[in-house]
Amino acid sequence: MIAVTLQRQKCIGCNYCVELCPELFRMSKKDGKTVLLKSVDKKGFFTVRVNDVLIDSSNAAASACPVKIIQVRES
Ligand code: SF4
Repeated sequence: MIAVTLQRQKCIGCNYCVELCPELFRMSKKDGKTVLLKSVDKKGFFTVRVNDVLIDSSNAAASACPVKIIQVRES
């Protein structure tokens, strides 16, 4: 499993993560920030544990994020 974390408040809504990893990210029409699907919020850090098959696409999203608010780690 991997754990993906998003510090959502700092999102600038560029959409890169949605394009690179649509299995995990959706853009919110309400506030223009990305949503990490099925994640749990802990003081603004949204985290979800997912299968390893998403490691490449989630790492691609983390690398592309211009404000570096996506983290991927083994869990
Ligand atoms: S890549 Fe980063 S800044 Fe862009 S929408 Fe995703 S989380 Fe937000």
